[in-house]
This record gives sequence, structure tokens and C-alpha cells, in this order.
Amino acid sequence: MGGGIAAVLVSASYLLAAFLFITGLKRMSSPVTARGGIGWAGAGMVVATIATFFTPDMSNIVLILVAIALGGGVAWITGKRVAMTDMPQMIALYNGMGGGAAAAIAAVELFKGEAHSTMVLALAVLGGLIGAVSFSGSLIAFGKLQDLIKRSFRFRGQNVVNLALLLASVLVGASLVLAAAGPVPGMVTLFFGLALVLGVTMTLPIGGADMPVVISLYNALTGLAVAFEGFVLNNAAMIIAGMVVGSAGTLLTQLMAKAMNRSLANVLFSGFGDTAGPQGEVSGSMKPIDAADVGVMMAFAQKVIIVPGYGMAVAQAQHKVWELAKLLQERGVTVKFAIHPVAGRMPGHMNVLLAEAGVPYDVIYDESEINAEFDNTDVALIIGANDVVNPAARTDKSSPIYGMPILNADKSRNVIVVKRGKGAGFSGIENGLFFLDNTHMLYGDGQAVAAALIQAVKAL
Ligand code: NAP
Repeated sequence: MGGGIAAVLVSASYLLAAFLFITGLKRMSSPVTARGGIGWAGAGMVVATIATFFTPDMSNIVLILVAIALGGGVAWITGKRVAMTDMPQMIALYNGMGGGAAAAIAAVELFKGEAHSTMVLALAVLGGLIGAVSFSGSLIAFGKLQDLIKRSFRFRGQNVVNLALLLASVLVGASLVLAAAGPVPGMVTLFFGLALVLGVTMTLPIGGADMPVVISLYNALTGLAVAFEGFVLNNAAMIIAGMVVGSAGTLLTQLMAKAMNRSLANVLFSGFGDTAGPQGEVSGSMKPIDAADVGVMMAFAQKVIIVPGYGMAVAQAQHKVWELAKLLQERGVTVKFAIHPVAGRMPGHMNVLLAEAGVPYDVIYDESEINAEFDNTDVALIIGANDVVNPAARTDKSSPIYGMPILNADKSRNVIVVKRGKGAGFSGIENGLFFLDNTHMLYGDGQAVAAALIQAVKAL
């Protein structure tokens, strides 16, 4: 009887946890409520974790507590230390752990060798396959973003090899499900070995440039794997949390692919970004300018649009940029921030940085909201952005970024580009914007330049 009540309470707590996860996710959809959303989802995780300890017949409590302390401790320390620019690889690593955990649950169930129902075995195998691929694939993605793996390993027929590995994993997985006397340990090992190798061979050939999309895809797969294993363990919290992560990851993957105007197949199989694509024709010359002149230009402008990009994140220039914007506002200049959906290295990268610096949301606009305004803008200040303002995306059919919606900064009366030198953007291609008559280059590290601009405006 006592066990029965405990089971009902545990189930009710899982439902409460699911409610907290979904509310948290909903709140994460707006920057105003996002921080609170993380708190709601975190509370959900605490409820689910505590409830699990009250599961009837729970054992190995000490081992579980040690694992939680170890995992939680490492995550706490690394989470506090990680730089914003390293966030994508951090996400890859944590996501890989989720996939690995789902695969480990499947492995435990399959190695037990018990004759589960075919349905449960099939779900365990499916979740195990997806989780293991996501685990090893995410680790490779981490290695690439962290620059531990510096090149892509491409060879002829790699897609055939991957297809063969996938087929072999599916066949071995099917044999586990159909084995009359329960799964044979040797075959279980072979199954996971194949799945782990598949994750590695699938990810190694993909260009570093596409890793954020790949991570988002693996994130969706991890969610799916967790949901499948939730069915195996009959755990409602895992099913719901897994589905939420799976669908959020799928939407994010689609959003990134759409913002780059590329298909997922192109991301996974084209090897984009590791080798420079065809360079469009650029004519004219890059004209340097100094901070004092730009200070005058902006201080006497009516409207300035600031376009931040990956370089602003590298330079950690967001605080100085906002200080500059406030100075201009005090002089009566209208200042707006234009954020491209894939500016930086992960969705929302720039929004997070600007929010951190205290920039209010009502001066931040996304590409579709602000693009028409560049036509009547005096100065577009591009700080550390490159691909997301490359007009080749509009005009040059041979360009690898052709079709990607861009911010129309080139249409402003004056364009100022802040970057350190002649470094290319993420896609590795030249940017014709830098050579236009109305463009001037303000060379230097983003933070140092922003500080110089502040001084220049203050001196007026
Ligand atoms: P970008 O094309 O990567 O260009 C960044 C520019 O910043 C570089 O040209 C670099 O030039 C400059 N830079 C680097 N460090 C700097 C510093 N300390 N100070 C000043 N400038 C610095 O950046 P983006 O325009 O933001 O474009 C993002 C790219 O990432 C796109 O190609 C997008 O498709 C890709 N991507 C994004 C996501 C996402 O979710 N956000 C996902 C996948 C792919 P110098 O070296 O000359 O300084």
C-alpha cells in the first residue's frame, strides 16, 4: 500500500516537473523572461531528481549521490568558467553526455538479457542507437570547435561507408530485438561499437563551420533518445523532457538552416566552410579611417545602426559598445542594434551578449524588422560581423552563402567596419561590402576600437 502511494506521488511529481520544464521553455522564448525560464526548468529538474529517490525498490542510493555530486560539481565549475565564445563547444559536450546517458540506460537494459516485450526492446535499441551516435558525434563536434581536431577527414565514398555502418547497426539492433532468449551480450557490444563509430565517421567530414547546426541536430536526437529510454523505464518525466528537447532541437536546427538558406542535407554532406568557396569578383579598395573621424560622423548623425557579429564576442566589446551607444543617444542620435539570426556562433549569441551589457530589448531589432531602415540610416557601424553583411549573398549565385538573408548594411549612407585586419568571416569568403565607395575600415580589436570611439565622441 505504502509503495502504491509512493508510486503515485512519484508520478505526480514527474508531471509537476514536466509542467515546470514546459513553462521554463515557454519563458525562454523571450529575452525578457529567459533568465526566469532557466530557473523554472532547473526547478523542474530538481523536482524530478528528488522524486526519483522515492521510487519503490530504489537501490544504489550512495552511488547515485556520488554521481550527482561529481557531475554537478564538474558542471558547476566549468559552467562558471566558460567564456561566452566557447559556449557552443560547451553545449556540444553536455549534449553528448545526455546522449551517452540515454545509450547507457539502453546498454544496462540490453545487457541484463531479460526477455522484455518486443516493443520495449525495440525502443531501448532505437534510443541506444540514437544516443550513442549523438554521444560520439557530439564529442567530435566539441573537438572541432575547441580546435583539438583541426581538419576534416574526407574520403571518397564516405557517405557509402556511413550508410553501410547505419545499416549494420540497424541489422544488429533488429537481431537484439528479435532474439528469442533475450539479447546476447556479444551482439550488444557489437551494436554499441557500430553506433559509436557511426557517430564519429558521420561528424568528422563535416566542416567546422557547420558544427553549431550539427550540435543542434544532435541535441534533437539526444532528446529523442532520452524519450525512448523513458518509455523503457516507464518514466513520464524522461518521456516529456526528452520530447521537449527533441522538438526544440529540431526547430532550432531548422531555424539555423533556414537563416543560412541551406538544407540540412547540404549541412551534413557538403563539407561547407573548411575550404574557401569560390571568391566572387570584388573591385575597389579598402579605405581605412581613424576613430576620431568616425566619432564625428556618428555624433552628428541622426540615425546609427550597430551591427554586432562574432568579432564583438571575441573582443568582449559589448559593454564598451553600449557605452558608446548611450553617449550617442545623449546627443540625440537614434541608435538601434541589428541582429542577424546566425550572427556569432550560435542562435541568440549576440542577444545574450547585449543583454549581459544591459542593452534594453527595445533598441534591438532582428533582420526582418530592421532591414528596410538601412536606406535612411546615416551610419551603419559593423563591429566584428562579416558574413551576415556580405552582399554576395544577395547577388552572387556562385557564392557559398548565396541566398542567405543578410542585413542590408551596405544601403546605409556610410558604412564603418570594425575588424582587426583582412581576416575572412566564418564562410571563408571575401566580402565586397568592404570595398564599396561608402565603406570605411576602422581597424583594431573590437573593444579597443569601441573605447577609442567613446573618447572621440566625448572629446567633441
Ligand atoms: P563572421 O562572418 O564569422 O566574421 C567575424 C569577423 O570578426 C571576422 O571577419 C574577423 O575579422 C572579425 N573579428 C574577429 N575577432 C575580432 C576582434 N577581436 N575584434 C574585431 N573584429 C574581430 O561573423 P558573423 O558576421 O557574425 O557571421 C556568423 C557566421 O557564423 C555566419 O557565416 C553564420 O552562417 C555562421 N554560423 C552561425 C551560427 C549561429 O547560430 N550563430 C551557426 C552556424 C554557423 P578579422 O580577423 O580581420 O578581425
